[in-house]
Amino acid sequence: MSPSQTVLICDQVDPILNTILQKHGLQVTYEPQITKDDLAQRIGDFDIVVVRSRTTITKDLIDKAAKCKIIARVGVGLDNIDTEAAKAKDIRVINAVEGAMNAVAELVLGLMLGMAREIPRADREIRNGNWIKKELMGSELSGKYLGIVGLGNIGKRLARLARALNMNIIGYDVVPIDPEFSKEVGLMKTDLDTLLQSADYVSLHVPLLESTKHMINAERLSRMKKTARIINTSRGGTIDEDALFEAIKAGNLGGAALDVFEVEPATGNNLATLPNVILTPHIGAQTKEAQSLAANVIAEKIVQILRGVI
Ligand code: NAD
Repeated sequence: MSPSQTVLICDQVDPILNTILQKHGLQVTYEPQITKDDLAQRIGDFDIVVVRSRTTITKDLIDKAAKCKIIARVGVGLDNIDTEAAKAKDIRVINAVEGAMNAVAELVLGLMLGMAREIPRADREIRNGNWIKKELMGSELSGKYLGIVGLGNIGKRLARLARALNMNIIGYDVVPIDPEFSKEVGLMKTDLDTLLQSADYVSLHVPLLESTKHMINAERLSRMKKTARIINTSRGGTIDEDALFEAIKAGNLGGAALDVFEVEPATGNNLATLPNVILTPHIGAQTKEAQSLAANVIAEKIVQILRGVI
């Protein structure tokens, strides 16, 4: 592995990434606030470019990245990297699918509990001087049906955690689901419409693709129980937010919890006007553990690629 390999880290990442890469003799430049213009001028100097969520690697930037061999995302989704343009220039694009699995699944549990017991509203009211105990008659997750759409890394982790809370798990995926996993969590495998009709909670864990864009639309929302709640920690475009707003406002859906939005930052989103909605600012992977794990995974992958192992 040549020690002259240069790495540009464009976003704030766990320091362990820098430490591991330097330990292996790479020259690391850490520019977590680099602007698009600055990046366009300097990207040509680096063999490896690392991003998280702030920086978008467009075709224009890739065209300028003359030496680049690897673009790494310290996270799961690759929406902020033009992977086709990278492929055309023989640049490897890598991510850390393992990093966020537990963090996102735990956030979903938090959001479900938050909706079931109206925790955000209870907190808001008490801060406003209101003791609304009698209004806050919640429900329990135990015994409820959780429909998981997309049983990849995060969907599976969620199923295991929810099973421990005694929830019944219904699952839908476009690829076959491992029978051993299904047996372990008592998964009832079904089609999407049956899942939507049966579940008390629906949680989305699919990538944003042509086939998943607005997969939850007005028609599909109308199939859900009026008391059901939907959680989205995947990608914003998978739910038609206008349709979701109308369904909840009309009382045709029990509520929603969203960590991801069609437009981010989602300040000013009209879903925030509805009381039975919880909104979080794309914090699914925002835990110390997830960031450290993702940084470790990316560092190891970079080293292995440079050694020709993977
Ligand atoms: P994954 O690739 O392991 O799993 C995705 C699953 O979705 C796969 O099993 C795939 O077959 C399935 N799928 C694809 N198209 C489908 C369709 N049309 N219908 C049903 N299933 C379909 O991905 P993952 O690591 O579990 O991540 C899931 C999502 O979570 C991604 O969108 C990712 O970008 C997002 N994510 C969000 C955060 C956050 O901060 N909120 C963090 C990490 C990941």
